Amino acid sequence: MYNLSGKVALVTGAGGEHGIGRAIAIRLAKESADVIVSDVVDNPYAHNSIDWEGAPSVVREIEALGRQAVTILADVSDGEQVDALVNEGIERFGQIDILVSNAGSRPGPDRVPVVELEEEAWDTVHTTNLKGTFLCCRAVARHMINRGGGGKIITMSSVSGKSGSARFAAYAASKFGVIGFTQALAQELAPHHINVNAICPGVVDTERWSYIGAALSSEDISGEEWRASGRHTEAMKQRGSGIPLGRVGTGEDVARTAAFLASSESDYLTGLAINVAGGSSMS
Ligand code: NAD
Repeated sequence: MYNLSGKVALVTGAGGEHGIGRAIAIRLAKESADVIVSDVVDNPYAHNSIDWEGAPSVVREIEALGRQAVTILADVSDGEQVDALVNEGIERFGQIDILVSNAGSRPGPDRVPVVELEEEAWDTVHTTNLKGTFLCCRAVARHMINRGGGGKIITMSSVSGKSGSARFAAYAASKFGVIGFTQALAQELAPHHINVNAICPGVVDTERWSYIGAALSSEDISGEEWRASGRHTEAMKQRGSGIPLGRVGTGEDVARTAAFLASSESDYLTGLAINVAGGSSMS
């Protein structure tokens, strides 16, 4: 549908079996892009299927589609690692045309009332979600400006980046920050024909929600146990019933918007924060 032939995309946080990053990486490859599949570790979630190896599995899926892909690991909150990731990606493919800054910190100790929120939990969320977005965008933007061929930068905010809710303070603050950052960067990069837009997913059924479910429950239970007990599936059904379009989102729902924003069809759009939320948030 969108022709990304000859384009190279870097997707961070892409090693989760059910993650948004994997869905975006696969969709961009289906649109004929080659993909740098990045994550902080090869296989971020312990309870993945037995044959799921994380980022290397995503690379194999992309290669099966006839595109090229490589795994490069990096902690997005570390400037040196991010610069090395981008340099290695450019060495491998010669260029980066599309950045999807998708990595997000794992929910857990941050999902508590502010009066109980530890500094460390606040910092983890902010260094991953906000500083990580800054570092990835800075490294790729420098390359895109030097190269002079324009580009597409997609950041990952959330509907929580537009409206705060109880026990989501650190997360919401980081995602509000991503939107402000996206708008500023969009203005700076517009003269270079680099479009910068944020996606704001609502509830998307990924590994993340097992950890949120466990953190919000009153029990002492891990994300893995929460998922294994069947309560993840039940909670997704319940949340879906409150959404105007009748279900929670999938990674593929988000990937459709990412593919559009990565394509020339979005050439006149920049600085936006687009909800992919089934109507659960309309502002
Ligand atoms: P996820 O937890 O499955 O994916 C996040 C990925 O980021 C993981 O693969 C993880 O290993 C990686 N990561 C974490 N810390 C990192 C670091 N320091 N460096 C590099 N990678 C790191 O979650 P997801 O649901 O697929 O979410 C993807 C993005 O979408 C996140 O930014 C999240 O905040 C956002 N989002 C998700 C939802 C949802 O309902 N799932 C809703 C709104 C926004």
